[in-house]
Amino acid sequence: MLPYFAEFYGNASSNHSFGKKAKDAIEKSRVQVSNLINSNNKEIIFTSGATESINLGVKGYLEANSDKGNHIITVKTEHKAVLATCEYLESKGFEVTYLDVDKNGLINLKELTKSITNSTLLICVMYVNNEIGVIQPIKEIGKIARENNIAFLCDATQAVGKIVVDVEEDNIDMLCFSAHKLKGPKGIGVLYKNCDIKLTPLLHGGGQERGLRGGTYNTPLIVGLGKACELAQSDFKNNTNILLKKRAELKEYYETNNIGVVNFKEVATAPHILSVTLKNREAEEYLMLKSKEFVASTGSACNAEIFEISHVLKAIGITNNQTIRISI
Ligand code: PLP
Repeated sequence: MLPYFAEFYGNASSNHSFGKKAKDAIEKSRVQVSNLINSNNKEIIFTSGATESINLGVKGYLEANSDKGNHIITVKTEHKAVLATCEYLESKGFEVTYLDVDKNGLINLKELTKSITNSTLLICVMYVNNEIGVIQPIKEIGKIARENNIAFLCDATQAVGKIVVDVEEDNIDMLCFSAHKLKGPKGIGVLYKNCDIKLTPLLHGGGQERGLRGGTYNTPLIVGLGKACELAQSDFKNNTNILLKKRAELKEYYETNNIGVVNFKEVATAPHILSVTLKNREAEEYLMLKSKEFVASTGSACNAEIFEISHVLKAIGITNNQTIRISI
């Protein structure tokens, strides 16, 4: 990233040689990103992160297709970036179905199919839950969406680089993630959109990103995102093995020492998240005691200033205040 702050500082939208140097770096990053998720590089839009990508994907799709319907289906355990966007859209007259989850945080595919109406435009389900790490049946959800001619947006912020994500195989029309979840810089992310998907931009401006996201390119951050994707792909096996080994050690530590019980053992989870329900101790008190050894959270990091049981834990029926979320 460093040369693109000072040495190659040209604006990628300019036609002169400084601009071309930046533009080439951006296009290289687009290829690195698309290789990781098996998309075409023409289908990658750079944004400031998953929150913006979700806003662009959801609002942009609904606006561009408002003549075809007004209904969205999502899940109670989504990240606030999705839930708050849906709440806003409800205030504008759209209808939203929030699917329940079972005790493992997974949706029921029959419920999903039942909730589809003639006016359903979009299904929005996350790949890996950021608090509990469980993996939704994305390929099957995508199949249901395709069979019903509905667009499928997947928030893969906690999945990309941690598990195999393939937009083709998984039947995904739109997918988002942020660079900082895979060792890249903060404030940069991606919206992948299949070339058949029509969007109305959130940011109108100088026509960047094929008119879908105006604003001068942040070349250093885009270069960092691309490199992070390249490394995530080349080191995938090694990284995953390290995470799985560490997770197994943590599980052993909590359970053999009788400190807590590891949750979601019967379902597939991403290798970097461990949910533990402590025995005989409140989560906040335990983390305070351990604060010199490690840091972790009781809800998602974004909710950490609010000391109430998170919407995710509530949705799966956990009512105690004894669950911690360890990110490895
Ligand atoms: N979606 C999920 C699953 C996340 O974990 C996060 C961030 O923690 C986001 C969306 C929002 O990402 P950002 O804050 O980079 O926009």
